[in-house]
Amino acid sequence: MNQYDVIVVGAGNGGLVAAATVAKAGYRTLLLEKHNIPGGCATSFVRGRFEFEPSLHELCFEGSREDQASASGLFRSLGADVPLYLEDTLFRVIAKGPDGYDVTLQAGMEAFLDSMEEAVPGCRGSVKAFFDLIDPIDDAMNAMGDGLPNPVNLLRKHSDFIRIAGHSTEEVMNALGVPQKAQDLINTYWGYLGVPTDDLNALHYLSMVTAYIKGRPSMPYHRSHELSLALVKALQDAGGEIRYNSEVTRFLYDGQNAVCGVIAGGEALWAKKVISNIIPNNVFNRSDNRHISKRSRKLANARKLGMTFVTIYLGLDCTMEELGVNDYSLFILRDRNPRRQFDLRADRSIYIVNCLNKALPDATPPGTCTLFFTIPIMPGDLPKDLSPQNYKAYKNQMAETYIRDYEETMGVSVLPHIEEISVATPVTFARYLSTPRGAIYGYANEGWDNIIARSVTEAMDYDTPNLYFCGGHYIRGDGYPSGYMTGDMAAKAVIAALKKEGK
Ligand SMILES: Cc1cc2nc3c(=O)[nH]c(=O)nc-3n(C[C@H](O)[C@H](O)[C@H](O)COP(=O)(O)OP(=O)(O)OC[C@H]3O[C@@H](n4cnc5c(N)ncnc54)[C@H](O)[C@@H]3O)c2cc1C
Repeated sequence: MNQYDVIVVGAGNGGLVAAATVAKAGYRTLLLEKHNIPGGCATSFVRGRFEFEPSLHELCFEGSREDQASASGLFRSLGADVPLYLEDTLFRVIAKGPDGYDVTLQAGMEAFLDSMEEAVPGCRGSVKAFFDLIDPIDDAMNAMGDGLPNPVNLLRKHSDFIRIAGHSTEEVMNALGVPQKAQDLINTYWGYLGVPTDDLNALHYLSMVTAYIKGRPSMPYHRSHELSLALVKALQDAGGEIRYNSEVTRFLYDGQNAVCGVIAGGEALWAKKVISNIIPNNVFNRSDNRHISKRSRKLANARKLGMTFVTIYLGLDCTMEELGVNDYSLFILRDRNPRRQFDLRADRSIYIVNCLNKALPDATPPGTCTLFFTIPIMPGDLPKDLSPQNYKAYKNQMAETYIRDYEETMGVSVLPHIEEISVATPVTFARYLSTPRGAIYGYANEGWDNIIARSVTEAMDYDTPNLYFCGGHYIRGDGYPSGYMTGDMAAKAVIAALKKEGK
């Protein structure tokens, strides 16, 4: 049988939730994944005696408020149960230089405000005022529900939301008089959304940071692969089908330019609706261009690709205590200012180091530990003369530069303890995820292409009949929760459309 109600392309976070949700609603569902395992970024890999977490630094599983949509709510509704281990701290941040600092911020709103006040005496009131803005934002988001925002209602009842919606994070903090050092500390997480806070929508950043503070960062025990497997089980329990090693090479259209199926593994598979967890650029590359509207093509070409990373995974032959490490999430900055961190990113201006053993003490064999370095870069940052011949040397040089910088900053000795090392670059992500230029954050969430603009123009921007999108490239931007939630949004839109069509 090659006829389905819904075909989902890509088993990343978005695709997994989308497929499980439509299957649970009773529709004949097929999920197609090009790899032999699910998850996309949410997976794991093994080198020697270490199982590495390839992507997840910190899971933001709860919403900013109990009545807000959250990844935990979605997992519950799908019956996907994954025990999570909560962290007490948000992160430690070391900013170098004459006006530098070394601060650890605590999770939980009161503990967070206390740690901010300790680091920047007198900042508590303005910092609290900033985070109090989450209530009007969440009220407005709830009022909008799943439908399009009603501008008149929004203006009348949610004026704070409207006031904030058009501004950057830094503009809102400046307006509230948040002291500069407190702003710099709060801005530490900008790399998680890939856009410096002078251009990052305040509402978007505030929602993410508040969710981390209130819900506390968490980690699954068996790497993010465990989350993906739980969603596969939810899909299969609901009668859905997943096919691995099934790369979609073509999207098929009917006479009305509506998607009606795909080709995977040389086989034509037909569906009433198709949900793509892969970025529009790759859907259009696999489509006859005549079926794609001019607007969609122009939009895909106009959008800037978001951030990507170089990542270094180390398996060490000593414990974290022997190494002298005591933090789970550590940000190392050469400069306090996010814009300068972004501009100088080629030269160790910002990187993150995670020690999974701090969150999960027995995450590695006894007497060992892991370190996971994340270096934010942009898709065009790779050296122009990078060739297959010098690629290995480039990776080795990057790894050595950052490991030495870390050793110097922390006063620890890492190099003699390396038992396993793996380095991923945008080339790795391009090959693994098939994203253009190895982008992992979809499109950059900056300026005109921010979360608000995307939400308002969603219907116009995604205009191919029967084709729906989800994932980090979609309207909510990157991240585990956004991936999951857009999967849910796409599934609900498909279910509503199928019901309307009497199916
Ligand atoms: C190093 C790193 C660190 C990160 N840290 C965090 C973090 O701490 N917290 C956080 O919330 N987020 C983090 N993220 C971001 C998060 O991982 C992603 O935003 C999210 O997982 C993206 O999910 P997605 O739904 O877009 O799917 P993706 O992960 O992009 O998966 C897409 C899937 O589609 C498949 N596919 C592609 N093309 C085809 C095709 N033609 N046919 C069939 N299948 C196809 C791919 O194989 C893949 O399985 C990080 C990402 C990386 C890489």
